[in-house]
Amino acid sequence: MHRAVFLDRDGVINRAIVRKGKPYPPASLAELELLPGVPEALLRLHTAGFQLIIVTNQPDVARGTTTRTEVEAIHHGLQFGGAGRPPLHIDRFQVCYHDDSDGCNCRKPAPGLLLDAAREDDLDLTTSFMVGDRWRDIEAGRRAGCTTLFIDYGYDEAERSPPDARFRSLAEAADWILNDMRRATI
Ligand SMILES: [Mg+2]
Ligand SMILES: [Zn+2]
Repeated sequence: MHRAVFLDRDGVINRAIVRKGKPYPPASLAELELLPGVPEALLRLHTAGFQLIIVTNQPDVARGTTTRTEVEAIHHGLQFGGAGRPPLHIDRFQVCYHDDSDGCNCRKPAPGLLLDAAREDDLDLTTSFMVGDRWRDIEAGRRAGCTTLFIDYGYDEAERSPPDARFRSLAEAADWILNDMRRATI
């Protein structure tokens, strides 16, 4: 079985657009900005043998303010990037396009995106990690049985589910995961 690092997208890989203390996804490729240290962090986790899986809620599709095509274009741009940048080490994108009213089992805090990937890629969830910047990410990771890592930007949002550890960036979280692996093998 493989281990995974599940990664929320907005606020973990690319910069979230923050308005009045709340994070929003970039509306288009033009607003897409990779966060510092992300390519290196993904490369280190990939080299250590983790499957790297983006798990992202994109409810604006259900709300009719963007389209699946636009979301897929952002994912393509994120992975394959601009001129001169090597592709990011991302193995898979798992996307929920629903809103709360759809009652799906994939919109985080439901764990469906993680469970589907685990089934398809033969992943051991109990030795996998979930990295996110909102309570929905942490709760989805907890329900899937993963270790949960929170990137804390101090959003104006209640924390409902305490994470296993807190960081300021994916680079810091990746350090912690790789140190955790070393501890486990000593
Ligand atoms: Mg996020
Ligand atoms: Zn869904």
